[in-house]
Amino acid sequence: MNQQIVSHSIQEINHYNRVLEGNKRYVAKKMEEDPLYFKTLSKGQSPKYLLIGCSDSRAPPNELTETDPGEIFIHRNIANLVIPTDLNLNCVIQYAVEHLHIHNIVVMGHTCCGGVKAAMTQDSVGGLLDLWLNQIKLVYEKHADLIESFVDENDKITCLSQLNVRAQVMNIWKNPIIQKAWQKGNPVMVHGWLFRVETGYIEELLIDQHTPEEMCKVYALKFKLESEKQLSKHVSPTGSPKNNAKKRFQNMQRKLIEHINQLKENKIEDFDLETKEIGGFIESSKDL
Ligand SMILES: [Zn+2]
Repeated sequence: MNQQIVSHSIQEINHYNRVLEGNKRYVAKKMEEDPLYFKTLSKGQSPKYLLIGCSDSRAPPNELTETDPGEIFIHRNIANLVIPTDLNLNCVIQYAVEHLHIHNIVVMGHTCCGGVKAAMTQDSVGGLLDLWLNQIKLVYEKHADLIESFVDENDKITCLSQLNVRAQVMNIWKNPIIQKAWQKGNPVMVHGWLFRVETGYIEELLIDQHTPEEMCKVYALKFKLESEKQLSKHVSPTGSPKNNAKKRFQNMQRKLIEHINQLKENKIEDFDLETKEIGGFIESSKDL
């Protein structure tokens, strides 16, 4: 085997062992402070915060906020995105809100974010990654004038990082799990943070002057409470949910047919013109 490869492998193994040795030192230190620390930790968790952060190794939530294991429920992905169809993230949000009863959700972005930087260029970083970063490109496209007004390249990235956090906070507002929590009177708050890698400080971001309810009217879902579900089971046969649904569907069908007929009438002139043109073509084809 090449000498260089052997030397490189030894270095890698040493690095790997250093991480495991670090764990032994961590346990020893904790046990020295409190011999029951891990026994207490094993009894359960009741974190007060859900943090959605970037996977970047420079932005570890617990270290940055001087919090202990058990205090923050954490989900991390590239560029702290809240994609509505992300099954993994939705399970985390649902568990945090409905089972851990967390009332504070934080989206934490950071400066010098590789994901944000990559989304600003046209260079491909690979199939799935390009697809993932498209979510940031949407934010960039929407605010390109503002972002490009900055001369310094790092300022552009920082500006897009902030706008990205804002967009992800709003995605959480629109999430049905959060909409349901709000309707049930659970006051879930969503915060936006930007961690400045170059200073170590976290800055709270202003998300919007409007309330989430004003911003997300289109996404506001109405959920039936348990008491309402019970009531709907006891309505008379003529007003049963099944009959109502059938009537509503028939009404919808009538409206649809009227709507299509209306469209046809409005386009009748175009239709006639097209027919004449086609007819003319057929007539002229006969001469060939
Ligand atoms: Zn990042």
